[in-house]
Amino acid sequence: MENRSKSAASFRKKLRTWYKTHCRKLPWRENQDPYRIWISEVMLQQTTVQAVLPYYRLWIKLFPDVVSLSKAPLQKVLKAWQGLGYYQRAKNLHKASKIINDKFETQIPQNYEELRKLPGFGPYTTAAVLSFAFNKPYIALDANVRRVLMRLMSLEGEPNPNNDDALLQFLKSYLSRKGMSLLNQALMELGALVCRPKNPFCLLCPISEFCQAFEEGKQEVIPRPKKRNYAKIEAVVAIIRGNGKYLIQKRPPKGLLADLWEFPGGKRKAGEKLEEALQRELKEELSAETKKGKLLTKVHHTYTQFQVTLYAYECSLKNEPHLNKDHHKWVTLRALRRYPVPSGSAKIIKFLEKREKIHGQE
Ligand code: SF4
Repeated sequence: MENRSKSAASFRKKLRTWYKTHCRKLPWRENQDPYRIWISEVMLQQTTVQAVLPYYRLWIKLFPDVVSLSKAPLQKVLKAWQGLGYYQRAKNLHKASKIINDKFETQIPQNYEELRKLPGFGPYTTAAVLSFAFNKPYIALDANVRRVLMRLMSLEGEPNPNNDDALLQFLKSYLSRKGMSLLNQALMELGALVCRPKNPFCLLCPISEFCQAFEEGKQEVIPRPKKRNYAKIEAVVAIIRGNGKYLIQKRPPKGLLADLWEFPGGKRKAGEKLEEALQRELKEELSAETKKGKLLTKVHHTYTQFQVTLYAYECSLKNEPHLNKDHHKWVTLRALRRYPVPSGSAKIIKFLEKREKIHGQE
């Protein structure tokens, strides 16, 4: 027992010393501002630090605190999030900020149950905010920490939240309540910089002597990578212009890419030609008929759950489209920059901008 606590103390010391020397200087680590920690933790889910940094800086500039976020229009919030994916996260930040503003006098609650009830505060985000901002003794298990722990334990298989209890149990035997927050962050950083998914730098690892996978030579095969089967979708998009403006429409408020703006169009059905899909979609969405469209560009984008190929056709309509003022807008390309759009549509907009630059307004 004494040996065990001695080795746990040595584990903590090695990890702490390594972290103090090697941790990256990141903007959300400059102080313990709970709002900034909250925003960074939500952005970092499913996304790397490098990808998050420009989004985080812009976000803090636009919405420096809970109050400014709570008062911002949703469209501005979604626009700032554009490209990060999982837009529900941005909506939840927005909703939660309003509740914090109205019910908690702009202060992020420090109580687990209260915080957990706010939109978007799952077990991970709740533990991370309480631990990193308020030094509360909660452990936040992210993908990096899960991987490090699975390797330390030599636990085979895919990373699976069903194993979280076993991982927490194991980790608790090494941590003490005091300084838990710092050690939690140190494990995350170790996972990001040393115990990487592929080719971990075991020879540079401060806790290699505690690592069962390293001892068994299994660090490259634990954890087993998750299999990803992307659904492949093909969709047609109508580029409809009138008086130098483009017709865009708002997606429904629920479901995939909810509340974002896009060009009219939709999925091609099995056995349908692209032109046929275009005709059908325009009829369904705008009660409009189109003359034969001209294929302008084809773009691909991989979202988290599927890969899409968008075929953008320039169309001229034979009749007036049925429009709804809340869901359809005619906008110039310049004005379109203010609208949050899915990443696939953003690629089409880039194409149109380039075309206008070269040819001007045709
Ligand atoms: S020894 Fe290697 S596999 Fe084990 S924790 Fe360190 S970096 Fe990860």
